[in-house]
Amino acid sequence: MSPCAACKLLRRRCAKGCVFAPYFPPDEPQKFANVHKIFGASNVNKMLKDLPVHQRGDAVSSMVYEANARVRDPVYGCVGAISSLQQQVIHLQSQLTVANAKILSMQMHQAKVRSSQTKSLRSPSSSGKLPNFP
Ligand SMILES: [Zn+2]
Repeated sequence: MSPCAACKLLRRRCAKGCVFAPYFPPDEPQKFANVHKIFGASNVNKMLKDLPVHQRGDAVSSMVYEANARVRDPVYGCVGAISSLQQQVIHLQSQLTVANAKILSMQMHQAKVRSSQTKSLRSPSSSGKLPNFP
């Protein structure tokens, strides 16, 4: 059995029950390399051991995401992505407000056109009586 990506990078024997093995398979060496570079293997080891087993997978996913973001953007890391997405949300919300205002204005215009059409159909030849409603 080949050692997991963590043990391979750390040049140690991948013992049975290795805390990294389930999350850092040997065919994805870059995954652990970035996490190790940013957090340090012993910190990752400690963080994983402090978590219940069923939450470790999610923790590894978020560490990998954070580490990759930090490698890509050494200044802002994943905060850069969050902030850019927040800007997009603000921009899209203002576009939505504009679109909703346009829809409302079109609906009001249509209602106005309909009511003037109804009036012009009724007014010249109408007998002046109100229509009969059942
Ligand atoms: Zn291992």
